[in-house]
Amino acid sequence: MIDYKSLAASGVQKLKPYIPGKPISELEREMGIVNIIKLASNENPLGSSPLAMQAVREVLDEVGLYPDGNGFALKQALAIKHNVDMDCITLGNGSNDVLVLLAEAFLSPKLNGVYSQYSFAVYPIAIQAVGAGHKQVPAMSWETNSPLGHDLDAMLAAIDDKTRLVFVANPNNPTGNHLSKKELKGFISKIPENVIVIVDEAYLEYSSKDEQVDASKWLKEFNNLVVTRTFSKAYGLAGLRVGYALSNPEIANVINRIRQPFNVNSLALIAAEHAIDDKEFLDRSLIENARGIKILEQTCNNLGLRFVPSKGNFLLIDFEKDAAPIYMELLKRGIITRPVGNYGLNDALRITIGTQQQMERLDKAMEQVCG
Ligand code: PMP
Repeated sequence: MIDYKSLAASGVQKLKPYIPGKPISELEREMGIVNIIKLASNENPLGSSPLAMQAVREVLDEVGLYPDGNGFALKQALAIKHNVDMDCITLGNGSNDVLVLLAEAFLSPKLNGVYSQYSFAVYPIAIQAVGAGHKQVPAMSWETNSPLGHDLDAMLAAIDDKTRLVFVANPNNPTGNHLSKKELKGFISKIPENVIVIVDEAYLEYSSKDEQVDASKWLKEFNNLVVTRTFSKAYGLAGLRVGYALSNPEIANVINRIRQPFNVNSLALIAAEHAIDDKEFLDRSLIENARGIKILEQTCNNLGLRFVPSKGNFLLIDFEKDAAPIYMELLKRGIITRPVGNYGLNDALRITIGTQQQMERLDKAMEQVCG
């Protein structure tokens, strides 16, 4: 057989595929276990907004039609939420889609994108897929006050005349640490205007209101700023795939040229539009997360395990030895967590915050496995 890999674009040949969290059905098949909890993909343990689900049910028999390719109603709702014009918004099939579109639109083999070590795995994939150089900047060490967080000075120093994109996740995945308003704004203000800085706010909702660093408020100040958001986490719509970018209209117009005409499906559009209004579900999700994260932090403290203080819906826990056997032992007890060896963190697991009940079950399992 021909070596088809050798025929692929050179950037693609070098890629390592994204490894998602193990699905519940896979563990059921592999181990014949029931009553499984998945704490592996930072999903919302409360499911999804009842208002959104009701709206979806009402349009189910319209799926024979294409969706509104311009997503008018959702964009209108988002424009109000963010106090921006509708032409500042680009909708995506998950925020993952807009991250990839940005790389496709602004990068090419002679250019490069900058991102931090231990930051979202999709950044290097999106950059390399278009053959561009990927400049991974070493993260802060465990011993600093931002363990494994972005080293903003080093990221600034990594920007050169070939850099077109800089990715910052705030809060960051898989670590959970977050940058203050002063740190992030200071960083953006030092970036040359021909370099686009993408602030990925997939987990923003989980910080308390006074701690939230909402970079979308600075869009008028920085023409080169793009902020991405998702409905997959606090809004509980991961399975429908809907996210968006906020930017100046010219950047949105560029992305729009390569966006698939119907990249967000009709159920996702209607669900997102209604999820925005479901304050009750959002508040409940944030309360459950705050409660769950305290339980997991306590579990770690009891077991003498260090973790990165997290502003997301997950905790990165360091076992200070190979975490693979711990992952396996938790699997046997019906608990799916996320190995992070692909980030070079072989000794750690990233664990999503579940309901109080799930966290209590995890506590018992971790006590058995690590105690
Ligand atoms: N950004 C970050 C930091 C993430 O962790 C994720 C999902 N894990 C995404 C973006 C993409 O999420 P989605 O495509 O579901 O919006």
